[in-house]
Amino acid sequence: MRLRALPAVLALMLSATFAYAAARVEKLAGNLYAYVSDNDHSSNSTFLVGRDSILVVDTGLNAAEGQKLLAEIRKISPLPIAFIVNTHYHPDHQGGNGVVGPHAVVISSPFTRERTLQLIEQQQKQQQQPSPAPAAAAPPRPSFMAAKETVGQKLTIYMDGDPVEIIAAGPAHTMGDVYVYFPAQQTIATGDLFMNNSCPAMDQGDAANWVHALDLMAGLKVEHFVPGHFDVATQAGFLQFRDYLADLDGQVEKLFRAGVSAEDIAGHLEMSRYQSFRQFPQFHATFADNAATIYRQLKQRQ
Ligand SMILES: [Zn+2]
Repeated sequence: MRLRALPAVLALMLSATFAYAAARVEKLAGNLYAYVSDNDHSSNSTFLVGRDSILVVDTGLNAAEGQKLLAEIRKISPLPIAFIVNTHYHPDHQGGNGVVGPHAVVISSPFTRERTLQLIEQQQKQQQQPSPAPAAAAPPRPSFMAAKETVGQKLTIYMDGDPVEIIAAGPAHTMGDVYVYFPAQQTIATGDLFMNNSCPAMDQGDAANWVHALDLMAGLKVEHFVPGHFDVATQAGFLQFRDYLADLDGQVEKLFRAGVSAEDIAGHLEMSRYQSFRQFPQFHATFADNAATIYRQLKQRQ
């Protein structure tokens, strides 16, 4: 009986795994699509299909993830990828560049470009060193491409006459993030400036300016927010995240001014409003991690 039941159970498990293991493409508005990655280590992407070319925001962790994204784009359109926008330098957002759009014009903040050139240099040095492990065991490599065009404040690209606004957020999640606003489609591709119902990872950036950037985004006419990772959100989800970061920033600043030590901060936080938020210790993305980063930023500014 048990043995007979086993294949059915196995098939169920496998189909459940398979359903989870596929990235999802959502049509947002017009010819604008969100690619929701099935891999927490790789970013989401957003792509706009024009009459003669395609614009892509973020390309995933490495060549393999870039290939997965490209395969989904190709189910919709055979047109060339003319533009890639990288929201920031983290490899999980730009490691697929060379696969997704080897001939694309890559656009980022100047900071992202600088850091990407460093990543490429590091990668080249590693390639020159003899590898102790056989090549077959090596993980898939990122295929970086540094920006050809950088964004000071804002850069507007017209796709079939519709503006695509690439806007500099300044220091926030990193020291130089951009987000992409599609006014005609009422959508923002936020990069890691926003995580849906989740704590963010925080690089060396600026939490106060990050909240300011979120406020500017909240002032735009937007229906769909495509986060750097996890599900696409509506305005309610976006504002909940904005409130979380603003609240945490306020609480940590108050504790910092009151002389509470870095070690004691976590015990003083009041986070019950955000109990639904997912926390990711493996990415240093918990309430305590976020508070510690904000504390460090305040200390550096002293
Ligand atoms: Zn990031």
